[in-house]
Amino acid sequence: MPTTTDYQYTILARDYTLGDDQSLPFDDPFHVDLRVWYTPRAQPVPIMMIIKQAPLPHGQLKSHDTARPALKPLLSFLSTAGINLDDQTVNAISYCARALSSQPIRRTSHGLVVPGIELLILLDPDAVWEEVNTVRPVPATDACIKALEKLVLGDGGSGNSVDRCAVCFEDFCHGSEIARMPCSHVYHSGCIVQWLKTSNLCPLCRYQMPTS
Ligand SMILES: [Zn+2]
Ligand SMILES: [Zn+2]
Repeated sequence: MPTTTDYQYTILARDYTLGDDQSLPFDDPFHVDLRVWYTPRAQPVPIMMIIKQAPLPHGQLKSHDTARPALKPLLSFLSTAGINLDDQTVNAISYCARALSSQPIRRTSHGLVVPGIELLILLDPDAVWEEVNTVRPVPATDACIKALEKLVLGDGGSGNSVDRCAVCFEDFCHGSEIARMPCSHVYHSGCIVQWLKTSNLCPLCRYQMPTS
């Protein structure tokens, strides 16, 4: 796991569509989609290491004083992975949230569209954004996501040497629903399903799931 604090980041404005079955978590949701990229030593191509998406209260992100507490769940998630965002980055997120204040939540035929940002963090100081852009993730097909082998973890463990989910960095515990990829890597079901909807590559070995 990289522990460098020397990283670059970029913030892109992006709309997010909530399905009709999803209720609004706040009156003023603002979607923050966090993606961390890094370049493993043995590979010339950056890989996406983390995706974490969370709706946050838009109002709280607009002020510097309230932005940090509002971002706390995401910030502490990142620090679990050894990444500590400085105040400058938090201020940049809050600046973007303010700049996007005028965007109303709107209803379309696909569901509710809420404003948001994609926060991309590049851990490798030598990597360039063009590389990240050329390896933009492609989602796996719904069919192969549905076909994942699911199991509920019993006393026997995952049957795998990995005892931690590489998507959320939390340990597997008794009763966790886990899913096994064809490459035999296991993750929490919810974590890997969310991941595969964005990227068809196994987070640990880059095994390729089918794309449409
Ligand atoms: Zn997980
Ligand atoms: Zn794998």
